[in-house]
Amino acid sequence: MPTIFSQIVDGEIPARTVYEDETTFAFLDANPLAPGHTLVIPKDEYERLNDVPDDVAADLYATIHDLVPAVEDAVDADGTTVAFNNGEAAGQEVPHVHCHIVPRFEGDGGGPIHAIAGETPDLADDELDDIAADIESIV
Ligand code: AMP
Repeated sequence: MPTIFSQIVDGEIPARTVYEDETTFAFLDANPLAPGHTLVIPKDEYERLNDVPDDVAADLYATIHDLVPAVEDAVDADGTTVAFNNGEAAGQEVPHVHCHIVPRFEGDGGGPIHAIAGETPDLADDELDDIAADIESIV
């Protein structure tokens, strides 16, 4: 069963499309957190960022890079929060990679990306060193 976003790409479900090229697609979020809230997706289905091939990741970032200033200009925003919910644990509901571009306005009452944290950990220096070394060895 194709994801709801694949059905949008295929024109089976209506959406307010703002951009399309060979590999990427962007449309307004149906439940906007702010005017101009836009979703940017790869046309092909990948559940998580981890699954996106390098060439598609480059295309996806290029589209995000072009759309951020366009969205800001269109709604006269003071900034944008640009984020992926990557995996169910992070709040991802649609299993098709999508980048949220959420326009932000001075005094809009929203928080920074740091507001996503629940209880923040108190990590010792050696634990931080170990984590950094593990990531460096895997990437
Ligand atoms: P996430 O929680 O990161 O998976 O976000 C999914 C987003 O998709 C939510 O912000 C929804 O409002 C949005 N959404 C779901 N269905 C549609 C649709 N048919 N058209 C546009 N946006 C949608």
